[in-house]
Amino acid sequence: MRQTALRPSAYPIAAIRADFPALHQKVHGKPLIYLDNAASSQKPRQVIETLAEFYAHDYANVHRGVHTLSERATARFEAAREAVRRFLNAKERAEIVFVRGTTEAINLVAQSYCRPRLQAGDEVLISAMEHHSNIVPWQLVCREKGAKLKVAPMNQKGELQLDEFAQLLGPQTRLVAVAHMSNALGTINPVKEICALAHLHGIPVLVDGAQAVPHLPVDVQALGCDFYAFSGHKLYGPTGIGVLYGKRALLEAMPPWQGGGEMIRRVTFEATEYNDLPYKFEAGTPAIAEAVGLGAAIEYLERLGLEAVERHEQELLAYATAKAKEIKGLKIIGEASSKGAILSFTLEGIHPHDVGTFLDHYGIAVRAGHHCAMPVMDFFNVPATTRASFALYNTYEEVDSLMAAIQEIIKVFG
Ligand code: PLP
Repeated sequence: MRQTALRPSAYPIAAIRADFPALHQKVHGKPLIYLDNAASSQKPRQVIETLAEFYAHDYANVHRGVHTLSERATARFEAAREAVRRFLNAKERAEIVFVRGTTEAINLVAQSYCRPRLQAGDEVLISAMEHHSNIVPWQLVCREKGAKLKVAPMNQKGELQLDEFAQLLGPQTRLVAVAHMSNALGTINPVKEICALAHLHGIPVLVDGAQAVPHLPVDVQALGCDFYAFSGHKLYGPTGIGVLYGKRALLEAMPPWQGGGEMIRRVTFEATEYNDLPYKFEAGTPAIAEAVGLGAAIEYLERLGLEAVERHEQELLAYATAKAKEIKGLKIIGEASSKGAILSFTLEGIHPHDVGTFLDHYGIAVRAGHHCAMPVMDFFNVPATTRASFALYNTYEEVDSLMAAIQEIIKVFG
């Protein structure tokens, strides 16, 4: 399987790995194997160099200046917005709001879209596999308004029960919010069908794309979603920058979330006239260099082609899954038929934190814990899992090393 799947000429893995300086170091005397990509990914030199070069030459505050540096910084900031628009295939740049990350994007929609509309007895519908970021913001606003948070169930493979989801939609549902891809299980949800079902009732859909964007091509118009949120730092870009995509009509109808500079057209002590989209939602000095860095990350991915990345990661996941299934006492948590490059597992009688610590001594970085998805852990009746999450730079050899280290752990602790 490995020999046929590798296709070294089709996928330039060596050249890709050469782009990521952080991968070329030792941890505890062993070559680093970085498999914590669902938490955050490493950065290619194209992103690192863009940040350094931007700060060295073009940095200034954006939009407000008439001087050359401000104009250059503004042009690059807005070019990054255009890169995001292209990446998501949004209709227009005005639909791309820069925020700090997925969490902030979801809170923005909860506070600015939901809060003014929710009344006692209304409902917000999420799924059973959401990250805390796509649970707590809805809880906050539902509690305040006397609305209910409804949860569409999943099955034992970690797949959303679409028929039950459809049953939960009704005249009282104000919004649906679902993960495109689960960070704890890897499940890829049928977002297009979810949107179509919700739209039958006129209900808008927010898609949490934090995990999906690094792994598969996303087209917000083809999906039909109303809002789409993601973070730059999981997409090989900087921290502190993320995106909320929203359909123009919805964003237009929403009040600003935060007040301050940038989001205004005219201010008097009596009243404020707000700025146009997307600036209405971008109060204060934005994360300028980080946005430019995100643009560089997107260009990097566009050069590689997300289809090629997706193919590589799917092959790697299939290889890792087959190997993991050969290990006695290893249980995979999350076996959806449509799944991204995440392998969550438990080892019989060994706590995931011990697994994580042990693997670190082999230079292997994984995540052990509840992955900010405690309800998912409750559902599978485990306190935590160990999660290996793959990225475009991971290799078959790294999977082999992971599996060999797991065998060692079982020998030592099992
Ligand atoms: N949603 C999902 C599915 C995630 O995996 C994460 C981060 O792990 C988030 C939301 C939150 O992202 P951030 O912490 O970048 O805001």
